[in-house]
Amino acid sequence: MQQRIVAIVGRPNVGKSTLFNRIIGERHAIVDDEPGVTRDRHYATTDWAGKTFSLVDTGGFVPTSDDIIEVAIREQAEIAIEEADLVLFLVDAVSGLVPIDRDIAAILRRSDKKVVLVVNKVDTESREAEAGEFFALGLGEPVSASGLVGRKIGDLLDAVTLNIQGAEGGQEDDDRLKIAVIGKPNVGKSLLVNALLQKDRHIVTDIPGTTRDPIDTVLKYHGEEIVLVDTAGLRRRSKIKESIEFYSTVRTLKSIDRCNVAVVLLDAQQGLEHQDLRIIETTLERRKPAVLAVNKWDLIQKDDRTAAAFERYLQGKLRMYRYLPILFISALTRQRVYKILELARGVRSEALRRIPTGELNTQMGQAIDAHPPHSSSRKEIKIKYVTQVKTDPPVFAFFCNEPKLVEPSYRRYLENRIREHFGFRGVPVVLSFKKK
Ligand code: GDP
Ligand code: GDP
Repeated sequence: MQQRIVAIVGRPNVGKSTLFNRIIGERHAIVDDEPGVTRDRHYATTDWAGKTFSLVDTGGFVPTSDDIIEVAIREQAEIAIEEADLVLFLVDAVSGLVPIDRDIAAILRRSDKKVVLVVNKVDTESREAEAGEFFALGLGEPVSASGLVGRKIGDLLDAVTLNIQGAEGGQEDDDRLKIAVIGKPNVGKSLLVNALLQKDRHIVTDIPGTTRDPIDTVLKYHGEEIVLVDTAGLRRRSKIKESIEFYSTVRTLKSIDRCNVAVVLLDAQQGLEHQDLRIIETTLERRKPAVLAVNKWDLIQKDDRTAAAFERYLQGKLRMYRYLPILFISALTRQRVYKILELARGVRSEALRRIPTGELNTQMGQAIDAHPPHSSSRKEIKIKYVTQVKTDPPVFAFFCNEPKLVEPSYRRYLENRIREHFGFRGVPVVLSFKKK
C-alpha cells in the first residue's frame, strides 16, 4: 500500500519538531517491539481515524550556517510541494506573522498542492484571537493548535486526514518484480539505474494499456519484465546538503512503498553509516524484502579475502538484519550489476513462499522442545501450534496460552529457527503470538 506523505514546513522555532514529536508520541508511531537500531528520525509513520500516513519534519533538515537557512526553508517548501501529498505549514502565534512566512505562503499558493495552515503555540483559548492575522496569508482558514501543551491536536489531525481522504491508491494488480534502488545521496543510484538499462539485451519497453507510473522504467531480463520504480528524479541538485537529504528522505519513503524488493546501495569506501542503517530499518519496518549492494567496489584495493572481511564487518553492524543478502558491485564498471536482478528475484520468491503447516510444526515443535520459552512471571508459557497465515510479508501465527509473556529474545530465537530451516533470505518475517 502506498502511504501518504505529510511534510511539516515552516521557519525555525515555530515548533515543528515539538509538534512532530507530539503527534508521533501520542499516536505512537507504528514501530516494532524489537529494539531499533536508530530512533533519531525526522520521519515516522502514524495513523489517525483509520488513515495511515508518514509525517516528515523539515525541522530535521536545517543547515548550520545562518546565511543559507532561509534559502533552505524555501527550497524545502518547494520539495514538499513536489513530493509530499500534503503540506502542513506551521506559523507561530507568539511571534506573529513575519516576512519569511509570507515568502513560504507565496510559494505554497503558487502550487496546487493541498496545504493545511497551522497556527501553532495557541496554548490557551485566550490566544485564539491571535490566529486571525494569518488569514492574510491567503491559504484559507488556519487551524490553531499547540504542540507543546497538546491542545487541539485532534482537530489538526482531522484536517490532515480530511485532506488526504480518497488519495489512497488502490492495490494494483501487478505481480511483476518491482525494484526500488535506494540509498543515501551520492551512493550511485543514478549510475546503477543507467548501468542496468544500457545493455542492448535489456530493452526498455513501453507497454500500452497498462497504467504504470511514468516515472518507472520497465526492463526485460531473460524475457521477464522488471519494473525499476521511481527512476526519474533519483537525485536533486542543490547546493544545500540538508535539502538534498530532505528530498532523498521523502523519495526513499515513496520508493519503498511502491516496490516489492528494495536494493539498498552502500558505499564501499564509507562502510555502513548511520544514514544507511536508517534506510535499511525503514525498509524492513515497512515489511519490504531487501538486498544490500555494496557499490563502488572498483575503488577498493582488494585481494581474495577482502569481500569476506567486508561482509563480516557488515554482519557485525547489521545485528538482527543479518538475513539480508550482500553483493559487491560497481555501477561504474557494471561489475555484477545484473546479479542484483537475480538476487532480487530470488528474494521476491522467498517473500511469496508458504510453508506447509505440518512441516512448520514439526520443525518449530522441535525448536520449542529444545529450548522452551521461559517467562519472568510464574506462569508457564505453552506454545501449542504455529501456522503461516500470510505471505509477502510472511506472517507466522504462534498460538499459545500467554501471548503477552513471550519475550523479544524468544521471538528472535524462533525467527532464527524459521530462517535456519526455511530460508526467507532478505525477507522480513512477522511473528505474531495469539491466544489459543
Ligand atoms: P522548530 O525549529 O520549528 O522545529 O521548533 P521547535 O519544535 O524546536 O520549537 C521551538 C521553540 O518553541 C521551543 O522552545 C519550544 O519549546 C517552543 N514551542 C514549540 N511548540 C510550542 C507551543 O505549542 N507553544 C509554546 N508556547 N511554545 C512552543
Ligand atoms: P546518487 O546520488 O545515489 O544517484 O549517485 P550517482 O549515481 O549520481 O553517483 C554519485 C557519484 O558517484 C558520481 O560521481 C558517480 O560517478 C560515482 N559513482 C557511482 N557509482 C560508482 C562506482 O561504482 N564506482 C565509482 N568509482 N564511482 C561511482
